[in-house]
Amino acid sequence: MVADTRLPSASSHDDGLEARLASVRQGITDAARAAGRPVDELTLVVVTKYHPASLVRELATLGVTHVGENRHQEAQAKAAELADLPLTWHFIGQLQSKKARQARRYAHVVQSLDRSSVVDAFAPTEAEPAPPVIDGFVQVNLTGDPGRGGVQPDAVEAMAERVLATGTIRLRGVMAVAPLDEEPRAAFARLRTISDRVVTLEARATDISAGMSGDYADAVLEGATHLRIGTAITGNRPAAP
Ligand SMILES: *Cc1c(COP(=O)(O)O)cnc(C)c1O
Repeated sequence: MVADTRLPSASSHDDGLEARLASVRQGITDAARAAGRPVDELTLVVVTKYHPASLVRELATLGVTHVGENRHQEAQAKAAELADLPLTWHFIGQLQSKKARQARRYAHVVQSLDRSSVVDAFAPTEAEPAPPVIDGFVQVNLTGDPGRGGVQPDAVEAMAERVLATGTIRLRGVMAVAPLDEEPRAAFARLRTISDRVVTLEARATDISAGMSGDYADAVLEGATHLRIGTAITGNRPAAP
C-alpha cells in the first residue's frame, strides 16, 4: 500500500486540526446566533504560542488569517519564517518596553498594552520619527490581584489616553482574560462596561478581545469582537520553551 511507504516528516499533518478548527468555527457561529449578533462581527485569532511555524502554515491553508503569540522571540521568528503568508499577527503576551520597538516590525496588533513604558515605546523618537502604525488594545485586569497582567479597571481611561497620545497606535479597544475564580460571563460583562467608557474617549475603539477555548461563548454574549482561541483548535500546547 502506498500509504505505508510514506515517510513521516516534520510537517506531517495533524488530522485533528481541521476538525477542531471546524468545530470551533461552528461553535462561534452558534454563539453569535445565541447572542443575536452577526457572525461577521467576530474575529477568530488562533493562538499558536509554543507551536512550530509549520502548524501556523497549516492553519493558513485552512483559511486562518489571524494568529496570536505571547513571546516576543518566538513570534518574531515565526513571523519571519511565514512572511509569505497573508497573516495578521497579534501579540497577546507581556511585553517589555525594549522589545516593543522590535515587536512592531512584525506585529500588526498588540493586545497587551498595560504599562506606560510599553505604550511609550511605540511613540515616534528622534531616531525614528515615523515608526510603523500598529493596532492596540488596552489590557484590563479583571482579577482582584494587581500582580496579574492588565491595568486596573479604574486606570483604563488614563492608559487609553496615553495610547492615543502616541499617534502611532490605533486604539481598537480593550482586551482581558477571565479570572479563574469567577463566572466568565460576569467578568466579561464588567469588561463591556469598561469598553463603553473607552468608546466615550475614542469612538472607533469599539473592539473587545475576550474569550478563550473554554469561555468564548460567554464572551460573545457580552459583546466580544475578537476571540483568542488556542488549545480547542491546536490541541494541547507543547511545554513552554
Ligand atoms: C494562551 C492564551 C490564550 C489561548 O488560551 P486557550 O485556553 O489555549 O484557548 C488566550 N489569551 C491569552 C492572553 C493567552 O495567553
